[in-house]
Amino acid sequence: MTLRPKTAGLLFFLGLGLGLPCLAAEQQSMDPRFAPPPQEEACRSLSLAATGGPTVKDPKILAVRWLGFSTYELVYGDRIILLDNYYDRGPRYRYLGFEAADVKRANLILVGHGHSDHMSDTAQTIVQTGASVIAAPISAAKLLSEGVDPGKIIQVTGRDGQILKFKGFTVQPVLGRHGEPNLAPGTGAFRKAYADAYPATAEEKAAEDVIGAKGSRDPHILDQGMIAFIITFDDGFRLAWRDSGGFMTDYEKAAMAKIGPVDILIGAVAANVVAEANVAVLMPMIDTYRPSVYFRRTTKKKSAAIPIAPPSPCSRASRINIPPP
Ligand SMILES: [Zn+2]
Repeated sequence: MTLRPKTAGLLFFLGLGLGLPCLAAEQQSMDPRFAPPPQEEACRSLSLAATGGPTVKDPKILAVRWLGFSTYELVYGDRIILLDNYYDRGPRYRYLGFEAADVKRANLILVGHGHSDHMSDTAQTIVQTGASVIAAPISAAKLLSEGVDPGKIIQVTGRDGQILKFKGFTVQPVLGRHGEPNLAPGTGAFRKAYADAYPATAEEKAAEDVIGAKGSRDPHILDQGMIAFIITFDDGFRLAWRDSGGFMTDYEKAAMAKIGPVDILIGAVAANVVAEANVAVLMPMIDTYRPSVYFRRTTKKKSAAIPIAPPSPCSRASRINIPPP
């Protein structure tokens, strides 16, 4: 399997500042192709480039930092791309090692969809970084309601094959579909049981309500508001990011039939807590995007142990490693 046709290196950091996930990744049998090259300072730093850490010097390296949920930082040379912005999560979540107020450098922001656990810090990040954001109209409407400069918002429907060009890469938005976890038998019951077992205090709930208000609750996020993004770097290396675990759309199938396989797919499935339901979402996603490497975007849960799946060559089997709590 060829990991990358032209880009020689790729890094994957699990939650800077958390320590535990980083150690967990190193202790597990990590694919050696993801080992950080020792000469690249950005690969050893625990700081995001977006918070003042080093950018990448080697033009053949793409640094991918996972920040929990579907929030990532991509660094390609001196280009910083932020995928979703959900940093300040409230007292029930582990501290990331930085706060939304610290995110001050970015060239572009992509918002997959408008729920608060994907864009609660987007408005603030746009102001602090000066970066533009690409988002669906539903997400854009929320940002406008928060006072974001309309000139910073690139609204996309993902229905028209549009390709946006930036220095060093292009971005193709494609209309996806949000996950429908409640279609899976048992998911609702699991969520209720979880909430009953780990109830929020009044203080925690108040903090989460403030964060929740910084996202959209438009029901059409399901079928109009979730954008999958395909990023193609100038050397041909291609990464797809899909921040919700919904079924494949005809737009995605048509786009990917034309584009061809991607090198990396970051694709969410985890809103379905039932394994069989996850498989029903994941396998068509794999078959559509045909990635060389799949990054499993995991979910939540607050202060509980976070399932971590390090990147691994794509196969028909999903690999899950759970670090100690
Ligand atoms: Zn959502």
